[in-house]
Order: sequence, then structure tokens, then C-alpha cells
Amino acid sequence: MLTQDLLNIAQEYGSPVYVYDAGKITAQYERLNSAFAKAKSLRIHYAVKALSNLSVLKLFKQLGAGLDTVSLQEVQLGLAAGVDPKKIIYTPNGVSLAEIEKVAALGVQINIDNLSILEQFGSKHPDVPVCVRINPHVMAGGNANISVGHIDSKFGISIHQIPHLLRIVENTNMTVNGVHMHTGSDILDIGVFLYATEILFETAAKFKDLEFIDFGSGFKVPYKEGDVATDIEELGDQLTDRFNQFCADYGREITLAFEPGKFLVSEAGYFLAQVNVVKQTTSTVFAGIDSGFNHLIRPMLYGSYHGITNISNPDGRNRFYSVVGYICETDTFAQNRQISEITEGDILAFSNAGAYCYSMASNYNSRYRPAEVLWYNGEAHLIRKRETMDDILNNQVELDFAV
Ligand SMILES: *Cc1c(COP(=O)(O)O)cnc(C)c1O
Repeated sequence: MLTQDLLNIAQEYGSPVYVYDAGKITAQYERLNSAFAKAKSLRIHYAVKALSNLSVLKLFKQLGAGLDTVSLQEVQLGLAAGVDPKKIIYTPNGVSLAEIEKVAALGVQINIDNLSILEQFGSKHPDVPVCVRINPHVMAGGNANISVGHIDSKFGISIHQIPHLLRIVENTNMTVNGVHMHTGSDILDIGVFLYATEILFETAAKFKDLEFIDFGSGFKVPYKEGDVATDIEELGDQLTDRFNQFCADYGREITLAFEPGKFLVSEAGYFLAQVNVVKQTTSTVFAGIDSGFNHLIRPMLYGSYHGITNISNPDGRNRFYSVVGYICETDTFAQNRQISEITEGDILAFSNAGAYCYSMASNYNSRYRPAEVLWYNGEAHLIRKRETMDDILNNQVELDFAV
């Protein structure tokens, strides 16, 4: 996508607005497919929670991807997008048995991550095959907020509880057709990740009815120049060799599965916002935009970095700005960042805005959530309208104090 395309979109659809480049999503999907091409059977489940717009899900369906879902509603969105329930995996944490039963009834592959629910589900529905989420207790990344494989984590069934897990499976006569792990959000070191997979292979060998092994995600994408990204090709090469060896030892071919979110959509996304005010204080120049953490919370929630370009003046002289929002709380997107000279009214483009941006947006300060646009085949398509006052009032029940 060109800068001019983004500017045109901001002009046509207003700001703030999210823009996703379907070409980039497709390229990432294909890159992952070729990295693991040596696997005889490969399934990529796109993690819906990263970006759950229906048209994006339809794009993934068209590409041949399955979906990874974490709620009944995400499953329903996937089905609404026309995805085959057999290509949907449901990997929730801390949800009720009742919700898991509803999802199973839709024909979706369920994945259970605690022994209590596993035992209850297995006793009631021994004929429904389930996948089990294992916690190998490996820290894949450095940030404890987004690493979910370590010892204190609430995710998965601890590898130290495998004997108990096997007893439940035997007693209930249920079938385990998959084993799964999702160690965290950032694979910085392939060696550490492969170490975790060894633990998973060891666990997998204990189940005789496996159809797949799901290695979760955690593929790191670059956010700024010099960032370490996961070397997907190297990982693909090493893991598929090891996986094929596992299949040979296991005695038959099973499917290698992944469920990336960020890798597939992060870099495809741009968030466009307009500068309302340039405010010079004694120490800082603030650029205040027509948005805040109601629309993009990642920098405030976990300190994530998003590149910011002034697309209205791409060739101007660089100056230092603190980019802030309009929310009546501290909502700093970037501190003392070098950005091409900003004039009020300019449009700023935030990069890496595809994953966990719109899907985490809220109505805080009673602001509307932005529109979403998909750039597909060289054209902009509106895929979600900007909210209106009706959306803010919807579901509010007005109490009539006069009565
Ligand atoms: C969030 C999530 C993913 C996707 O993680 P990314 O870091 O976006 O790739 C995959 N699997 C499960 C179970 C998740 O909860």
C-alpha cells in the first residue's frame, strides 16, 4: 500500500480508521505455509482474537486457513464467515462446561486446558474427541504478561499432571485426538521453542488416537528497525524434520497445526488518526490525536511500540513529539518520537495495527469505535462502519424517575 492510498482512505472514510492490507495478510499466510511445506499434513488456524472482523475471517477462509477461537462468540463469527466447523479449534481458558458443550455441539474441535472440566466433559460425552492443552513450563519470551507457558501460568494442564490426565482419559473412556501447547506471545529463541516442543512430543507419545499436534503460536514480528523477528523459515525447517520423525516413531501421519494471530495480521494493519492539536509546553511538544486508548490500547497496556508516520507530510523535517490521545487519562502512544514535522490536521499512520488493536477497542469516554477498511486488489472496501450515537445508546435501559 502506498502512503497516498492511506491518505485517500482517511479522506474518504474519515478518521480515526483502521486499514488492513489483504495482500500482506495473504503473503504472511503463504510464507508460513511454505516454511512448513515439508509437513505432510499442515493446518494453520488463524487466531480470531487478534482481529475478528467478518471480512477478514472470510479472507482466511478463502486462503484455506482454519480458525483458532477462544469464545463461543468467536466460533459463531467463524461459522458466520462460512468456515467449516471441522476447521475450527476452540481453545478457551476458564470458561464453563456449559459453553464448551455448546461449542462441541456445533461440531467444532474443542481443546480443554484443565483436569476438572476434562473429567466432567469426558464423563458426559465420552464419544466427543478432545484436544488437551499442555503447559510445558517453558518461558518462550521475556515478558511475563504475554508468556503463558511458565510455572505460575493459569494456562494449560501442567506436564507434572500427565499421570492424572491419563487416568481421567482411561476412566471416562474418552478419546484424546490432539495435544496442544501455546507457550507465550514471543518466540525470540528457536532453541527454547524447540525445547518446549520436545516436552510436547514426549507427552503426545502417550496418546494412541492422535490426529494432530498443535504448537500454538508466539511468532514474533518486527515492530521497529533492528527488532528480532522469529526466523520462521529456520523454525519450519527444524520443526518439520522433527515432526516427521515423530510421525515415523508414532507409526502414522498426523497433522502439524499452528494458530498464529499476530504473525498473520499485525503488519498488515494501519491505524490512521488526525492531529487535533499541537501543544508546545516548556519541555515537550505534544501531538494530540482524535483517538486514545479506547481505540488502540497496546502501548498503554503492555508498552508495545507502534511506528508512527506523518503521512500528510512524509518528507518534512524530523522533530520530536509526544503523541497523545484525547482520553481524560494518561494515554501516551509515543514519547519524544522523531516524526516528520506535524501541523494540526495532519494524518498520522500507526503501523503494526492489525493485531490486538481494533479487537481490544472500547467505547471509553463514550467515543465511537472507528471504521475498518480492507485494502483488497488495489481498492478500499469498508468492512465495518464507524459507530454512531445509536450504538452508544443501544442496550441502555432508561429508568423513568417520574414514576
Ligand atoms: C492468542 C492466542 C494465539 C495467538 O497468539 P499470537 O501471539 O497472536 O500469534 C494462539 N493460540 C492461543 C490459544 C491464543 O490464546
